[in-house]
Amino acid sequence: MSDVQLRTASGQPTRVPEDDVRTLESRLHGRLVSPADTDYDEARAVWNGMIDRRPALIARCTGVADVIAAVTFAREHDLLVGVRGGGHNVSGVAVCDDGLVVDLSLMKGVRVDPIGRTVQAQGGVTIGELDHETQAFALAVPMGLVSATGIAGLTLGGGFGWLRRAYGLSCDSLVSVDVVTADGQLVTASARDHAELFWAIKGGGGNFGVVTSFEFRAYPVGPEVFFAVVVHRGSDAGAALRSYRDWAATAPDDVTAFAVLWHGPEIEEIPAEHHGQPILILAAVHHGDPADGERALRQLRAFGSPIADLSGSTPYLQVQQFFDADYPAHELRYYWKSRYVRDLPDQLIDLLVELNAASASPRSTLDVWQLGGALSRVGVDETAFGGRSAPFMIAIEANWQRPEDDRANIAWGRQVYGVLEPYAAGGEYVNFPGFYEDGAKVVRDTFGANLDRLVAVKNRYDPTNLFRLNHNIQPS
Ligand SMILES: Cc1cc2nc3c(=O)[nH]c(=O)nc-3n(C[C@H](O)[C@H](O)[C@H](O)COP(=O)(O)OP(=O)(O)OC[C@H]3O[C@@H](n4cnc5c(N)ncnc54)[C@H](O)[C@@H]3O)c2cc1C
Repeated sequence: MSDVQLRTASGQPTRVPEDDVRTLESRLHGRLVSPADTDYDEARAVWNGMIDRRPALIARCTGVADVIAAVTFAREHDLLVGVRGGGHNVSGVAVCDDGLVVDLSLMKGVRVDPIGRTVQAQGGVTIGELDHETQAFALAVPMGLVSATGIAGLTLGGGFGWLRRAYGLSCDSLVSVDVVTADGQLVTASARDHAELFWAIKGGGGNFGVVTSFEFRAYPVGPEVFFAVVVHRGSDAGAALRSYRDWAATAPDDVTAFAVLWHGPEIEEIPAEHHGQPILILAAVHHGDPADGERALRQLRAFGSPIADLSGSTPYLQVQQFFDADYPAHELRYYWKSRYVRDLPDQLIDLLVELNAASASPRSTLDVWQLGGALSRVGVDETAFGGRSAPFMIAIEANWQRPEDDRANIAWGRQVYGVLEPYAAGGEYVNFPGFYEDGAKVVRDTFGANLDRLVAVKNRYDPTNLFRLNHNIQPS
C-alpha cells in the first residue's frame, strides 16, 4: 500500500499512510473525495471562478461525527486544513492545495421554533435555505444580500444584510453555536458556557474551530416589505450620493440602505442608452409594514430625475434574491476588498464616481453600505467584530470574466483600496478580504483593541493554529 501525499499546516509536503486515510474514510458517514474520484472537480470548485485549488482530500461531512473524525485526522497528521461552509468566500480559502478540506456543504438541517423565535441551522446552510424556512413563519434572521452565500462564513465574520440597522449583524443574533475545536471535542458555546469562545466567534472568523450548528434569534419580517430601488444616470451619481449621505444621517433605524456605483447592466428595466454606462443604484429596505416603509423611503426616492424606479412592496424572499443573478458561481472572476470610512465627504464621493467610471470591467462595483443603527449600539468589546462605529463601509468589488484580464482588474481593486486609505476608519471587513495579501497589519487594524483577547481564546481552543486559512489570529 502506498502513502498519500499531503501538505502540513506550515506548508511542507508530507506523506500519510494509505491505511490511515482508509481508516478516516471508514469513520465518515459522508464521503472522502480524492483526485481519483469523478466528483472531485465538483467538490473542489468554489464560487470564485479564479480559484483552482487541488486539495488532497475532501471530507464531505454529513454530521458532527464526521467533522470530529476529519478534524482529529488533520490534527494527528499536522495537515493544512480548509473549512468549507457555503464556499462563497472570494479568497477561496475554503479549499487549499494538497490539504484536507472539512466540507460542511452537505449539512443542510434547519429547524425553526416559531413560538420561541429561534432557528437552529447547520454549517452548510445557505442564506436562501435559511430564509425559505424562516419565512414560512414570517420570521427572518439578519443575513446577507445574495441567497447562495453560506451562513457559516458570513456569520463568523459578522454578516451585513438588509436588517443590519434594525437588528444588527448576523453574529449579533447568535444564541449559541456547536463547535468542534482543534482537539476534536464538541462544545456548545453561548453567553453562559464557553463564553469567551462565543464572544470570539462573533466576528473573529473561522479561527477557533468548525461550527457545525448555529442557533439564532429570529425577528418578525415580511412576508412583504417595502423595497426601494432607484437608478440614477452616471452624470447625476455624485449629486445622488451626496443626497444619500445627507439622508442617511437622520434615517430611522427601520431602514437600511446601500448605494452601488456600477455600469448599467443589460436588463429591460434600465433604458438601453445606459447599458454599459456608469450608473448609481440607491437601494433600501424597511423591515416593517410596507405602508410605513413607503413613507420612510419616500425622501430617498424623491431626489433628482432617476432613469428607473423599481420600488414597491416586495416579498422579503424576493428582496433577498434581488442581486443573485449578478453573482453567478464559477463562471466569473472576483477580487473584493473593503474599507470602513469615517465620513463621506464630497471629495471622496467625487473620487468614487471617477474610480467607478475607470473600472477595468463593467461588472465591477463600488458599494457604499450604510451602517449605524442597531449594529452600532453593540459595544466594541461585546463581540470580537471590529468596525462598528463607522457610518459607512465601502466594498470594492472587482468582477470580470476573462483570465487575461486578471491583472487589470486586481490592479483596479488595489488602486481603489489605496486611494481610500486617507478616509479609512481602520481595518477591513473580514468577509471581503481580497486574497489575504495584506497580512498581519490588516488583522491588527481589523480587530484593534479586541486582538489580545482573541489571542487568548485562540491559545485556549486552537494553540497549534490548525484553523489558519482566515484572517488569522496567531496563538502566542
Ligand atoms: C455573491 C456574494 C455576496 C455576498 N454578500 C454579502 C453580504 O451581503 N453581506 C456580508 O456580510 N457578506 C457578504 N458576502 C461575503 C460573505 O460573507 C463571505 O464570502 C463568507 O465567507 C461566505 O461564507 P461561506 O460559508 O459561503 O464561505 P466559505 O468560503 O465556505 O468559508 C469561508 C471561511 O469561513 C470559515 N468557515 C466557513 N464555514 C465554517 C464553519 N462551519 N466553521 C468554521 N469556519 C467556517 C472558514 O475560515 C472559511 O475559510 C458575500 C459573498 C459573495 C460571494
